[in-house]
Amino acid sequence: MFRNLIKIGGCLGLLSSSNILCNQIKGKNQDDQLPHYHFINDHDLQKLQKKHTNLQIIDRSYTEHILSVIRDVQTDIVDFRKHADRLIRILIEQAISQIEKQKHVKQSPLGYYDAHELIFQDEEICFVSILRSGNAFLIEALKIMTGASIGQILIQRNEETSQPSYFFQKLPKNIKDQKVILVDPMLATGGSASMALKILKNHGVKEENITFLALVSCEQGLSKLFSEYPKIKIITAQVDPILLQDINYLAPGIGDFGDRYFGTVKSNQGQQ
Ligand code: URA
Repeated sequence: MFRNLIKIGGCLGLLSSSNILCNQIKGKNQDDQLPHYHFINDHDLQKLQKKHTNLQIIDRSYTEHILSVIRDVQTDIVDFRKHADRLIRILIEQAISQIEKQKHVKQSPLGYYDAHELIFQDEEICFVSILRSGNAFLIEALKIMTGASIGQILIQRNEETSQPSYFFQKLPKNIKDQKVILVDPMLATGGSASMALKILKNHGVKEENITFLALVSCEQGLSKLFSEYPKIKIITAQVDPILLQDINYLAPGIGDFGDRYFGTVKSNQGQQ
């Protein structure tokens, strides 16, 4: 599918035109027609984080190997799942690290120490998955917080129009009193996430109680969500430079995350 795709979609609004050109460098093998995408440089990433103060990008040293493996079209389903799960765990731990802690003194086998423990019980946390790909987060989420609630919202992109359509939701009755961790691996246009956030707000969830986790995101999706919901937090492992027009996939991207994670593509050749 991507073989002949050299059309570049939107680039970071923050980037200078020379950087945009750098992001469109042609593939090293001229025969294969594939573009070679370059990541956003540190300076532009810092600008992005200054613009969106509620955006957190995980330290690259934790994620670059893992992301390099899952982006690779040759990675088979076993390695894809293994590495995606590792990255998901890092994102979830980062989200949980932001929840308030209570300091109290406890005893180790050797003496007393200052314990800092979450003030919330697992039951006060709700993971909300945007189906289908968001479900990939649930295995790791429940390993970390066995008692957390799970909400699910089915929003699917129309293949032709790329517009999100709402199908189904099942959320806990007390969700407005919970800390909500909304999960979807890829933040592209932000259409589905925006619809899911609207549903959460309609259920009384406060924006400041919502953290959105995406493995990979792009400037367009981040800007849309922060302009509509300025008080949410977004945690992502990497911000990709390109949102491909028409198909609304990120580049260099991962391809169709759900197909690769759930094994609904026939081979490891991903999108072809
Ligand atoms: N969903 C995906 O699976 N991949 C993208 O690049 C964008 C949305």
